[in-house]
Amino acid sequence: MPNENNSAVVHVQNLHKRYGNLEALRGITFEIKPGEVFGLLGPNGAGKTTAIEILEGLRQPDSGTVTVCGMDPAREKGALKERIGAQLQATVLPDKIRVQEALELFAGFYHQSASIEVLLERFGLAEKRRAFFEKLSGGQKQRLALALALVNNPELVLLDEPTVGLDAQLRRDIYALIEQFRTEGRTTLLTTHYIEEAERLCDRVAILDHGQVVAMGTPRELVHSSGKGTRLEVRLAKPVLPDRLKQLDAVVDCREAEGRYFLHAQPPARAVAALMRFLEAEGNALLDLHIAPPTLEDVFIEMTGRRMEA
Ligand code: ATP
Repeated sequence: MPNENNSAVVHVQNLHKRYGNLEALRGITFEIKPGEVFGLLGPNGAGKTTAIEILEGLRQPDSGTVTVCGMDPAREKGALKERIGAQLQATVLPDKIRVQEALELFAGFYHQSASIEVLLERFGLAEKRRAFFEKLSGGQKQRLALALALVNNPELVLLDEPTVGLDAQLRRDIYALIEQFRTEGRTTLLTTHYIEEAERLCDRVAILDHGQVVAMGTPRELVHSSGKGTRLEVRLAKPVLPDRLKQLDAVVDCREAEGRYFLHAQPPARAVAALMRFLEAEGNALLDLHIAPPTLEDVFIEMTGRRMEA
């Protein structure tokens, strides 16, 4: 099932897409290697759905080149459909279709299909096989959407916001299922606006903003390349001007909000030592200190100057 040679499963070069006056994609370029879980991370409206729909052959780009499993999605949609698994918006299923019927119906669309029994077991839906779609919980609907995406045993799985609207526990259940795709040698592209999802699941991430890739790499590379460094959250006995903390050794940045000071430090140990010396000299004291590694959110803020609100 994995791509026979080591060439990219998805190759996107300088892709542009415009809706009237709105430039939804402004020249995005990325590649996805066989077996990778690749994430397109960005806020609403960044262009993630547009990109994924172009890869599926559902939309035509204005310019740029796209190759998916060695094919041009715009011209070879039929052949490509056999090799990719696209997660549908679960809501497009009729209310009165039963879980097993939905899987059988979808299996019929392809030349080859996976075993329905295996899918029911694997996605925890065996006991719900006779349940109507409308009676499923949100988590069960998402699991069915993933099972439907795997019904043709695809080498590439395309997931558009696979956990949107689910609570944290259900999201983690879905992560475990997606992690298995990698173990099986499938390639996965997912879009998300959840930082944690991208950090936890993805081998590599492209951060998308206003139709452009603003950063790309492994989550680790991205957070380490961020000049911001480790985050320190500090509460002090007496207030102090944030600018004074910013001048301390190894402190890159400092802002204050609601009586707390948020520092970025590199290296963090030196900044903590400098902070302790400063507080002692000032007759001030530390009430609380939290140290956290930088996240992809910090990278997004650094690249765009904004928080990545959903
Ligand atoms: P979301 O998470 O909200 O779906 P997204 O990152 O997937 O966001 P897209 O859905 O690709 O982003 O949308 C990118 C931009 O293009 C948005 O500003 C959106 O309003 C606009 N857009 C998307 N589809 C159309 C369309 N058919 N006609 C006009 N504008 C569109």
